[in-house]
Parts: sequence; C-alpha cells; structure tokens
Amino acid sequence: MITEKEYEALKEKLKNINIDMILDQKFDLGFFPTPLHHLKNLSEEYSPYHIFIKRDDQTGLASGGNKTRKLEYLIWEALQNGCDTVITAGAQQSNHCRQTAAACAIAKLKCHLLLGGTAPQKYNGNLLLSHLLGAQIHFTGENRKGENIESLKQQLELEGEKPFAIPYGGSNLTGALGFVNAVKELKAQLIAQNLKIDYLFFASSSGGTQAGLTLGNDLYNLKMNLVPIGIDKSEKQGMSLEEVIYNLVNEGKQLLKIKKEYRLADVKIINDYSEAGYGVITENEKTAIKELAKSEGIFLDPVYTGRAFYAMLDYLKKEKIPSKATVLFWHTGGFPANFYYANQLM
Ligand SMILES: *Cc1c(COP(=O)(O)O)cnc(C)c1O
Repeated sequence: MITEKEYEALKEKLKNINIDMILDQKFDLGFFPTPLHHLKNLSEEYSPYHIFIKRDDQTGLASGGNKTRKLEYLIWEALQNGCDTVITAGAQQSNHCRQTAAACAIAKLKCHLLLGGTAPQKYNGNLLLSHLLGAQIHFTGENRKGENIESLKQQLELEGEKPFAIPYGGSNLTGALGFVNAVKELKAQLIAQNLKIDYLFFASSSGGTQAGLTLGNDLYNLKMNLVPIGIDKSEKQGMSLEEVIYNLVNEGKQLLKIKKEYRLADVKIINDYSEAGYGVITENEKTAIKELAKSEGIFLDPVYTGRAFYAMLDYLKKEKIPSKATVLFWHTGGFPANFYYANQLM
C-alpha cells in the first residue's frame, strides 16, 4: 500500500510528465534558452533596485523576437495538419510577420502576409526583411489585425492549396504555449543563478505573451508580479485585450490542469504609456532606447520594448514598486523597426 502523501506526489509527477509532453510538441526555430542576465550599470543607476533582462531579442530567428517561441508551436501544428502554406497578418513593420516568414522558409512552407496600409515606394525595416525571406505580401489598407485572413484562406483552398491561418500576433492558445514553455525555461535559469524575480515588465499587445506568462507563472509557481505594459489601445474585432487574454488563460488552464480561478478583473494591463497610439514614436520611446543603449549596449525597438522599458524606468524613478525589488525586463525583440523609424529617433 502507498500512503496518501506518496499517492499525491505520484499524481504531481504524472501531471508534470503530461505537461512536458504537451510543451515538447514543437518545431525548433530558435536557440534556447535565451540569456538571462544582470543589467549592472543600470542597476547602479537605479540602486537599490536589481534589474535583470531576458534576451528574447536573441532567439536567433531572423534577428530574433518573442514570436519565435509562439511560432515553434504554430508551425508544428501547421505541419501536423498537413498544410503547405501559412497566412498571417499585421502592421507593415510587424515583427511577427517577419519571424513567420523566416519560420516558413525553414519549414519549407509558403507564406502569405496580410499587411496594413498601401504598398510603399521603398521597403524598409521588417517589411524589407519579410520580402527578402520570400513571403508573398498583400496590402490590406485599414485592416492590420487579420480581418482578411479568412477570405484569402478560402481563395487559396479553391486553388488547391492547404493553408494554415495564424492569427494576428500568433496569439491563440497554441502560440501562447510558447510563453508557458518560456517560464519553464526561466525557472531553470532562476534556480541556476539563485535568483527570485519580484516584478516582471513586458510589452503586451496581441495577448499571447501575457496569457502564456500568466499561465506559466502559476503552473511553475514563480509568484512574479506581472506588469504588462499596453502598447496598442484599440480593440480587436470588438473584444478588449483584457477579454482576449482572459479567454486564452481560461482555455489554457483546462489544457494544463491549473486549478486557479481566473477572473476578468484580474487581467490587468497598464495603459498609461500607450496614449500616443500604436506605432507612434514619442520622446518616451526615444529616451528609453538611448538610455539602455548608452548604459548597457543593448538595443530596444521603438514600438514595443521602447515603450515598455520607458514604463519600467518610470516605475523605478517614481518608486511605484518597493525599493530593493528584483525586476526583470523581458526583451521581446523588434530591432529591425529602428531603421524604419530612423527619422523619429535622430
Ligand atoms: C509582438 C510583440 C510584442 C507583444 O507580444 P504579444 O504577444 O502580441 O502581446 C512585444 N514586443 C515585440 C517586439 C513584439 O514584436
């Protein structure tokens, strides 16, 4: 006979094996773990805070970024479904689209990108890279959040192709699993470096990163306070970002057998820094980019991480979180957009 305690321990072990099996079903696209390191100069400047950074700008997929993690699961699913073509969408300077184009090149899939706006005279930044990566680019005017995916999918099906639709930002549950796995990766690094993170700052825009980090934080019991910085205020197909994340988290908790009750009111996004609107570069983003570059030799991007990093520094300056806290900034990438926004960054 086994004791009650042994039985519980076995059940826990089995649960972990099941979760590992789910998280292992992915198509390798990047080099992981990405570095986790101390920002020594900045920590001196903002003493007594301890500032760390997680370098998803170094995932290794066509200049890096957080979408690499999501795409490992999404491309796996596309291949499992026997698809030969991927369709996704975003803004013209979408990092997600650039990484999707690279992922498709590696996986030998055709790639269609539906990008907002009209065709520019010259390609630059992410748009240029997506083109070089061999993606077929369609310009969709007002629509930059995947409104045209379904009609293109139907059209390609009529032409005999087997398209796989990846939502804007790669933010469905499959994509979000990339960030559950990211927390598993982080946990191993925290143990190895004997660290505990009190506050985690990151840019939140289409919801997959935040949903995955939320689930991972609870699944792996890291007890970090998440501080998601909203980048894009506008709604997506009538749903607020909070609702999108709430739905993803509830879907994910079933799959991952997380017992916690999530309420819509618990999904928080800090929208104090997104007033200017999506892709509008202000002094804030420029200040943050220069500050990290000059203090640590690391580049942020002007749309996402510049905004989120500015917010984190503002929190530290105003002591909105307890002094001596250990904070982690999750660098989600976006480097190529700096060149597109050169005029605003001069
Ligand atoms: C897409 C993106 C984000 C936001 O991630 P979501 O999962 O869409 O919220 C943050 N930073 C960069 C550089 C991105 O490209």
